[in-house]
Amino acid sequence: MPLRRILTPLFALAILVVAASAIATQAREKIPDHTFEREIVVDEDGLQQWGPWDIVCPTCKAVKEIDCPLCADRDVPNCIECGGDKRAVCRTCAGQGRYPDPMVEIVCPYCRGAAVYPCAQCWGKGSFGVTGNARDEKCRACDQKGGYECEPCDGTRRLQTVKFKKKPLAEADLDDLRELREDLKEVLANLEGFEHDENHRKTDKAFQSLLKKNAKAFPVLKPVGSMFSKVYKGFVKVGVQYEGFEGKVTHQFYIFQDRAVWHLRHQILVLDKEIARAEFNEAVLAESK
Ligand SMILES: [Zn+2]
Ligand SMILES: [Zn+2]
Ligand SMILES: [Zn+2]
Ligand SMILES: [Zn+2]
Repeated sequence: MPLRRILTPLFALAILVVAASAIATQAREKIPDHTFEREIVVDEDGLQQWGPWDIVCPTCKAVKEIDCPLCADRDVPNCIECGGDKRAVCRTCAGQGRYPDPMVEIVCPYCRGAAVYPCAQCWGKGSFGVTGNARDEKCRACDQKGGYECEPCDGTRRLQTVKFKKKPLAEADLDDLRELREDLKEVLANLEGFEHDENHRKTDKAFQSLLKKNAKAFPVLKPVGSMFSKVYKGFVKVGVQYEGFEGKVTHQFYIFQDRAVWHLRHQILVLDKEIARAEFNEAVLAESK
């Protein structure tokens, strides 16, 4: 039997230390407050309409590209976001130079506008260093691709505002908007109340069933669940033998849970603004009758 085949299982048993440079340990990100102002104009019938929206991208100032946020301070020759160029499409404006109108669409919170979700094991590189090893380890978690195409936005970097039964909010009436708001509030409570079990497999099962159950009211949760499944399965396949696995796998759950919560809160805020406008307009119409 060749020596390698004897040694490999021995290595697999040992807890290996992934080189610090390969994966920066991330603290749980604080979800920023959700607030935005949206200009209203009153049309000739006295009804409120959303004013024009044309905001130059505050991140790239309409240059449309930025220094790659994924590999800024690392050597990543095949970076999944920039291909190794070190320059990437601007995440904030999706390379359009204009900031998205929050009543219509937002920067995809699941990839944060990158169009890709980095692998939890190699963080966009396709390989990772292990302390004591001269050469990088090929990453089997992502098949050396460095990550996954973002499924919620399908690689478009933006997500459209929720609809009421496929109707855009502007065409929905007040009752529709209120009904949708109630439904989203319920999904939000379900997601916020999700508890992690110490057993990751149990957490995964419960998380997947939670996303599935709530996808009827908030359809984006379906591709969110599908992408999470890929990230999670890949990471569990490879990462379990490395130091820090427990914290990192929990971190992945939190990322997806927190981003879905953020997304819901934002959509409810959009609905609040639509409802306020619809209430105003309904009052105007009732008076003119
Ligand atoms: Zn930009
Ligand atoms: Zn890069
Ligand atoms: Zn995305
Ligand atoms: Zn990987």
